[in-house]
Amino acid sequence: MSVESLPLDAARIRQDFPILSQTIHDNQPLAFLDSAASTQRPQQVIDAVSHAYQNDYANVHRGIHLLSERATALYEEARERVREFIGAGAASEVIFTAGTTASINLVARSWGDGNVSQDDEILLTLMEHHSNIVPWQQLAERTGCKVRFAPIHDDGRLDMNGFAEMLNDRTRLVGVASTSNVLGTVNPIAEIAALAHGVGAKVLVDAAQSVPHTTTNVQDWDVDFVAFSGHKMLGPSGIGVLYGKLDLLEAMPPFLGGGSMIHQVTVDGFEPGDLPARFEAGTPPIVGAIGMTAAINYLQDIGLESIHQHERELTEYAHEVLEAEGGVRILGPSVEHKGGIVSFVVDGVHAHDVASIVDRHGVAIRAGHHCAMPLHKRLEVTASNRASFYCYSTRSDVEQLGRAIHEVKRKFRR
Ligand code: PMP
Repeated sequence: MSVESLPLDAARIRQDFPILSQTIHDNQPLAFLDSAASTQRPQQVIDAVSHAYQNDYANVHRGIHLLSERATALYEEARERVREFIGAGAASEVIFTAGTTASINLVARSWGDGNVSQDDEILLTLMEHHSNIVPWQQLAERTGCKVRFAPIHDDGRLDMNGFAEMLNDRTRLVGVASTSNVLGTVNPIAEIAALAHGVGAKVLVDAAQSVPHTTTNVQDWDVDFVAFSGHKMLGPSGIGVLYGKLDLLEAMPPFLGGGSMIHQVTVDGFEPGDLPARFEAGTPPIVGAIGMTAAINYLQDIGLESIHQHERELTEYAHEVLEAEGGVRILGPSVEHKGGIVSFVVDGVHAHDVASIVDRHGVAIRAGHHCAMPLHKRLEVTASNRASFYCYSTRSDVEQLGRAIHEVKRKFRR
């Protein structure tokens, strides 16, 4: 099947991404297959950011002057666009942060410190990114609570029976990735949330790898917190989102203190401000938010379902191409259970060697433990390679990867 017959016209979309038209290493086309780490940006996002700096920039929520009013309106418009994009009920449930990591740390500090104590448990899964592990381990250091990990099956799907068995009345929070950044596994979030709420636990979803790729509705999920990053969805780096249910956020104390997050400050103390300002101390990512609006507009113009379908077809193709090579172990479940992420191990070749050889052939992939060391231990590999797709990825990117892997094997005579 050619790119043209896919429901999404990736060849046309690529024309919006100036960075992708370059050739590298002796005039080879760039096959950028590292979007799970960070995506590229279309001209529309670059223009929106540049336009803001050239025309509408000032600090927000402060100055009584025209530029500040314009910047504030654009910043708040971004909040509303994000609300709509993820199906949240109210704009004040959308907190702008520095990214997924910052969002999860905010919850672990603000909600965690106030609601978790010594005999309590935080239940994660073995496929979490370090961003959804370490903040809870730090909470455990502060409170004495226990961090537990639900098991996965050998094929990389979550063991739902094992998960359900680990839930108990001491479980305060379940932290789970909607899509694993290594395995690509798509987890059944609504089902997980129903089980967790059944024992009175809150649910935090690390949605860094799903919000950019498929339609999200936080109310259908019925979860308490959702974290994701702008740079993984065509937006600027340095901005992310924490969604939280209104009643929970309202009961939470501020995490960072400083300007903008207060009602008033005296020499004796401070009174925190209302949502969402309470969690946005200091100058927020103003232009990042404006870029987010442009990114969401761009994604919605293509359609999240088309993107999802396109990635599914590329994932299927990548499985075919890598399997045809032989001597390549693909990590994670079969294609119908995963997003646009294909991690693999080339027999007998270190992941860093693989990545540097395929780079010489114009192919950008990730190598290492992908910030998921407990998962790699469970899979009994020290490191892996990861190819990941987005709306601008094509079948010819996958073919270039296949040829490059062939060269890796030839070099190592595997
Ligand atoms: N969670 C997952 C599943 C991720 O893939 C990533 C990014 N690799 C993160 C969290 C961290 O995101 P950020 O670096 O934007 O905070």
